[in-house]
This record gives sequence, structure tokens and C-alpha cells, in this order.
Amino acid sequence: MSATDNVMDKLVSLCKRRGFVFQSSEIYGGLGSVWDYGPLGVELKKNIKDRWWRAMVHARDDIEGLDAAILMHPRVWEASGHVAGFTDPLVDCRTCKSRFRADQIQSASCPRKPSKHPGEHTECDLTEPRLFNLMFKTFMGPVEEQAAVIYLRPETAQGIYVNYLNVLQASRQKVPFGIAQIGKAFRNEITPGNFIFRTREFEQMEMQFFVKPGTDSEWFERWREWRMAWHVELGLTPARLRWHPHGADELAHYAKAAYDIEYEFPFGWNEIEGVHNRTDFDLKRHQESSGKKLEYFDQAANERYLPYIVETSAGADRVTLTVLADAYREEQVEGETRVVLGLAPAIAPIKVAVLPLMKKEGMPDVADRIYRDVRGHMNAFYDDSGAIGRRYRRQDEAGTPFCVTVDADTLSDGTVTIRERDSMQQVRIAATQVPEWLRERIWGAPGS
Ligand code: ATP
Repeated sequence: MSATDNVMDKLVSLCKRRGFVFQSSEIYGGLGSVWDYGPLGVELKKNIKDRWWRAMVHARDDIEGLDAAILMHPRVWEASGHVAGFTDPLVDCRTCKSRFRADQIQSASCPRKPSKHPGEHTECDLTEPRLFNLMFKTFMGPVEEQAAVIYLRPETAQGIYVNYLNVLQASRQKVPFGIAQIGKAFRNEITPGNFIFRTREFEQMEMQFFVKPGTDSEWFERWREWRMAWHVELGLTPARLRWHPHGADELAHYAKAAYDIEYEFPFGWNEIEGVHNRTDFDLKRHQESSGKKLEYFDQAANERYLPYIVETSAGADRVTLTVLADAYREEQVEGETRVVLGLAPAIAPIKVAVLPLMKKEGMPDVADRIYRDVRGHMNAFYDDSGAIGRRYRRQDEAGTPFCVTVDADTLSDGTVTIRERDSMQQVRIAATQVPEWLRERIWGAPGS
């Protein structure tokens, strides 16, 4: 087993053991590349989505939120180009029956040993590349016929384009402005894998920014800078983040420029977010296809135009995996291995665990009171079972940044110790100050 597999295997196992991520329908043998988020995972992913929403919608006055339906008129997907073009070229091996993306043969491995790329063993017998549509199809209404075909959306963006005039009019925004949305998307991926990196059902965090043609390149550069800064603020190691510009052969038919933010996963550098200059391609296509005018009237300049669009598109699940992979570490402490998820406190699922040192002398009652007090401010956890060292380790593994311990001194002078996860340093403060002390360290000083 390679070191890479090892880290990913450990992460997958930790995620299951601690309730971050479970395989979908596991008791039936699992459903391929579909995952469920457990109690800690749902908190982590929600914190990431909330942070994105806060940065993109609440902290700005030029972006509005939207929550469009997953099901859309089938003509949307014809106009967008997905019916004709949302395809991956596939190659099958007639010998081992494996299937590979033709554009990823050089990074794929043939299941035969020794490990080689598909086509490199003498027995390999690859087909010519064939196109495969990635959209999930279903039927609307009682009759399963061609006229009732409907798709599960493969991206959230189209819901934004078809609502752009509604949002513009309802919000009284003016170009330049953006629309942000978080929602499920579905792709019948052919070579899914790497845990929650590439799944068939996933969530996207997308923002489409509408600008005057000619100002698009400037806005594109601004958005590149802001999006990279967001990932760094999430706590990701800057040296593991880089830009990947799309070359002419990679550039989608609609894009004038495209850059991916890539992260160095244990299995190599891979995309976590795309920033694209989509020009007026989408609005033009929907205008032609629907017959509805989608132009913007710029009152100040007294002119009409179809805005250009700068898109930022990130996967909530992929960012969650990135955060987990970046945070996972093992340390040797007093001859034992300590597993730590060094998550930034603001996105950690549990912010604080409250632990009575012993189950006697009234310590549990005092600890319970403190727990109820902090629970009003943040997600907290109470644990009185097992040796204190083991309880600390359980919280380290769950990524909990702080543990508050109630001991004999608490009973006499009302102080508690607070242990910090990364440094394992302890400080003593008055129990009444705990919520304020934690809030400052988790979210910064009030008003910051
Ligand atoms: P890839 O080349 O990895 O298939 P893409 O270029 O098709 O990705 P986009 O269509 O630009 O991806 O989607 C934007 C973002 O949505 C990606 O950066 C990724 O974070 C997320 N995403 C796309 N497909 C998946 C998937 N199958 N599973 C999880 N997240 C995904």
C-alpha cells in the first residue's frame, strides 16, 4: 500500500468511526460514489457553506442569494449545451472490463499488477473513446415517455441564469452585481472516487457575477484574488494551493478564460474551485432559445447590453474533503500516537467539550451547568466517561479546538481549565468567563 492510500484510508476510517461521513446504503453493500454525512460531518459541511454564504452574500451589498429548484424545464439543458455536449469520452478495456476517462488515461491505473497505465500491459485491449452523457434522466408525471424526460441538474448555475432578470428587478440591483446559490447537483460520473472528491450527488456553491462587457477581465482578476483568499482564510495550507490556468485545449466552449484553484491532496493536485469568464454565452443562448429578451438596460449610460458573466464554482463536498485532508495529522506524544484534526475553530463541528475531571464531589453538576451555558452560544459536547487523557484524545480526533475541565479547584474558587487542542496548553479562567473567552478565540473579538 502506498503512503497516499494510507493517508486516505486513515481519513476514510476516521470519518466513519467519528461520524463525519458514511457510505450510502451501507447495509445493502453501499451505493457507488454516494456518501452520507453523519453528526460531525453535517456540522462541518454546514459551517463551510455558512462561511461561503456570509462572505459572498451577507458581507457584500452587490450579491443576492437564490435557491432554485433542482428540476428545470428540459429546454434549459438544450440551450445550455448540456444535452449535446456534457459528455466525457470513455475508453473500455475488453480484457479487464474496466472503464477509464480517455483524457485521464495517463493518471489512471490498470487493475493488473504490476501497476501500469491502461493500455500498457500486453493483455490490455482498449476500445476507441466513446462519448457518454453525464446527466441523470428521469420522467416527470405518470408516463415514462420521451416527452416527459426531465434531468437532475448537473450544475446549479443555470437556475441563476434563468432567474437573473427576476432577481435584478426584485432586488433593484444594478450591473455589476451577482447571484449566489448553494444546492445539489448530480452527475453520472464514470470514474468517480477518492472518497467525497468525485461523487454522483454533490453540492455546489456557485456565484455568477454579471458585468458590463469590457469590464469582464478586471472582474475576473478580482474574483480570482477573492476566492483564493477565502480558501486561505478557511485555514488551508497556502503552499498546498495553486492556480491552474486552462490552456486552449481545456477551455470550455463558452469560456474566454478559466482558472482552477487546485489543492495538493494525498492523491495529487486536483481542482477544488473554478473561476470562469463565461462571456455572454449563457444569456445569449437562453435569450435565443426562450425568445425572451434578457438584456440589461443601463440607465446612466442609456444603453442596452447582455451582461458578461464571471462565475466562481466550488464544490461543498470537495472543499469539506480538502479541509479534512489538510487538517489530519498524527503526532507522537509520550510514546503514543495522537491523531488530530487541526480544523480552524470557526468551522470545527464541536467548538468545546465540557469535562468533569471525576464523577464525584459534585463535579458533574457544575460541568453540566457550564455546558448548558456555553451551549446557548455554540455547539458544545458533554463527556464524563473514561480517563481524562482519553477524553482529550477523542476530542482531538473530532477536531474540537477547546476542552473545559471542571476539577476540585472549580468547586472552591469557581475557575476551570481550558485546554487548547493544537498546543495542548492549559489556562485557568473563571467559569463565568468561558463563553466570552471562547467566542473571542473562535470568531475573533466582537465586531471584528
Ligand atoms: P472535474 O474536472 O473535476 O470533473 P469540472 O471541471 O467538471 O470538475 P465544474 O463543472 O467546474 O467541475 O464544477 C465546479 C466545482 O464543482 C468543481 O470545482 C468541484 O469542486 C465541484 N464538482 C464538480 N463535479 C463534482 C463531483 N462529481 N463531485 C464532487 N464535486 C464536484
